[in-house]
Amino acid sequence: MKRTHNNGQLNLSNVDQEVYLVGWVHRRRDHGGLIFIDLRDRSGLVQIVFRAEDKELHNEASKLRAEYVIQIQGKVVARAESAINKDLKTGEIEVVVSHLEILNTSKTPPFEIADSTTEPDEMIRLKYRYLDLRKENMRENLVFRHKIIKAMADYLDQEDFLEIETPFLTKSTPEGARDFLVPSRLNPGKFYALPQSPQLFKQLLMVSGMERYFQVVRCFRDEDLRADRQPEFTQLDIEMSFVAVDDIINLIESMIKHTLGMLAKDIDKYRGKHIPEISLPFPRLSWHDAMNRYGTDKPDTRFGLELVDISDLVKNSKLTIFSKAVSVGGVVKCINVKGGESFLSRTDLEKLEASAKLLGAKGLAWMVLSPEGVKSPIAKFFTEEELKSIFEKADAKKEDILLFAADKFDVACSVLGGVRLEVAKKLELIKKGTFNFLWVVDFPLFEYSETEKRWVSRHHPFTAPQGDQAHVEKQFADDPSKLRAQAYDFVLNGVEMGGGSIRIHRTDMQAQIFKILGFTEEEAKRRFGFLLEALEYGAPPHGGIALGLDRLVMMLAGMDSIREVIAFPKTQSALCPLTGAPDIVDAHQLKELFIKTSGGI
Ligand code: ASP
Repeated sequence: MKRTHNNGQLNLSNVDQEVYLVGWVHRRRDHGGLIFIDLRDRSGLVQIVFRAEDKELHNEASKLRAEYVIQIQGKVVARAESAINKDLKTGEIEVVVSHLEILNTSKTPPFEIADSTTEPDEMIRLKYRYLDLRKENMRENLVFRHKIIKAMADYLDQEDFLEIETPFLTKSTPEGARDFLVPSRLNPGKFYALPQSPQLFKQLLMVSGMERYFQVVRCFRDEDLRADRQPEFTQLDIEMSFVAVDDIINLIESMIKHTLGMLAKDIDKYRGKHIPEISLPFPRLSWHDAMNRYGTDKPDTRFGLELVDISDLVKNSKLTIFSKAVSVGGVVKCINVKGGESFLSRTDLEKLEASAKLLGAKGLAWMVLSPEGVKSPIAKFFTEEELKSIFEKADAKKEDILLFAADKFDVACSVLGGVRLEVAKKLELIKKGTFNFLWVVDFPLFEYSETEKRWVSRHHPFTAPQGDQAHVEKQFADDPSKLRAQAYDFVLNGVEMGGGSIRIHRTDMQAQIFKILGFTEEEAKRRFGFLLEALEYGAPPHGGIALGLDRLVMMLAGMDSIREVIAFPKTQSALCPLTGAPDIVDAHQLKELFIKTSGGI
């Protein structure tokens, strides 16, 4: 098909050239005998003009409607000064049409593609996603996503990584979410699980001697969905042999720097997107520091409001909820909302308390340091000295508000961590356009599961502990919560972008961890036997990481939902309005799979 130029690339240098263009009718205007069409292709828009002189052509052009697909031949002319459209890249020229062919007509779309100001209902957008993707912002999002993935893949290729695919029809993987299951027709009663990640296969690739692997890969987790979750999502998955924690962190930092550098080169192509300037290395916080200072293992460091520990100052106070929390090994912490008296009303404080309770707090104590004196239901329980020392430690001055939590370390921290975020949103403390990347390291290896009444892995059971087997044994006997993992999470603006770990590569260590986790040998063998066996054949030391690509692209594109950067996403209830999936299937399909369902079919 004859096409000499992309529409969005034409400019004054093309004047007087004869061009062949294709595309969709974006917008049409009739002006005293002239018909103007904005012709759209992937590269953008150009104005084409049908003059009145050629009756037949003009007649044909009058049939054009929005989203018709056409091919034209014409001549590029410079626009008169008064007709220049500064908002359009091609606004200095237009194309006078000499020949038109209508390649296809279109029904009137359910929403106007050319209208960038009104947002149709999301269900409609998803049902007609192929039309939604015609919109400029969506097209740009997908181009942006492509560029990010390409830059990362190019970087990894240059660093000698191989992209290797791993199976989708496989066995349950150890990421801890619910599996999507696929019945096997050829093996009645048996099921494949869709991979929650390629974790075990990438480890096997290290045993195979591939040394450096990556994959842009879909992962499947049957979880209850939140705004930034999808049942299938894309990871940049990486694994390397003969490495320690620093090697992986350094690799990712350089890859991010390279990627942002590549994007910055083309910045004018990504209108409205923010390409942050970064300096390496990214800060590293231990898990304990992150919890202690920000009340979360994915801290948003774009604003202060750090948690202050006042356990020592209140351990003997008359306020028993405080003194008791400390005496049973917990903590008392507070945040200081600077100048809070002018921003937070009594109702706001009540709302914050309600949120604190949802986060597991028994309550949220507060003190308002108003100019007339301290207003607070709890102030009377403290001596002058105690109050003075609290104010000093929290740097509290007149008009500040202190918010307190007293509980076990994890609970008090996460409660105030949640309150901290809410206060920051309310007071608009978060600077837009700031990108704070950081690492959280030194995670606990295990956490205690109250429901299962046993210690479980925080990451997955193949994560290497810090220290050798003797250390693990001793520390587990003393206090399992103090064991640390060679694991790391990558965080951007308070959102987890990914994580990984150095793996256990020796069977003796792996057996010890399984024993601690209460896996019987049989159970371990049944679930992960093939990996355990592989470790017996000269597995090299190895480790890796996976980055959530949808989220990373979403944040760099300045979007609030990952659905904006995924071509065909599902709704919050895991439905696809476009295809109607999930759907019922024919009875004979179920029969072939030896499956009986109750209801619906
Ligand atoms: N497989 C892990 C995950 O999906 C990442 C890793 O440990 O490399 O979270």
